[in-house]
Amino acid sequence: MKQYVVCPVCNAVMLTEFGSQFNPCTIKRCVRSPSHNIETFSADIYDEIYKIRILVKNETAIWAVWDFTAKQLEVGNAVLSQMLPWFEPDITNYRKLTDKIMTYLIFS
Ligand SMILES: [Zn+2]
Repeated sequence: MKQYVVCPVCNAVMLTEFGSQFNPCTIKRCVRSPSHNIETFSADIYDEIYKIRILVKNETAIWAVWDFTAKQLEVGNAVLSQMLPWFEPDITNYRKLTDKIMTYLIFS
C-alpha cells in the first residue's frame, strides 16, 4: 500500500513529517478532524506504507497499530496494550474499522 496524498477518510491533504538522516521515516497524518486520527509510516526512498496507526477511541486514547512487516496488530493506550488477530485494515471505512476493533477488545 502506497502512502496517501489525501486522507482516505476526509480527503484533506495529509500532513507530512519527513525523517532525518538517522531516522529515515516519513509520517503522514490526518489529525484535523475530531472524527478520525490517522498516521501512516513509510521509509524514505520507498513510498510503501509499513505501519498504520489510528485512534480507535478518543476518550480512552486507544490506538491501533498495524505493522505490515511483522503482520501484527497491536491495540492499546500508553499504559496497556495487547495483540489482536491480524487483518488488513480498510481505513476508508473508519467507523466500521474502529467498531471492529472495539468488538475484538470486548471479546478478547
Ligand atoms: Zn482525514
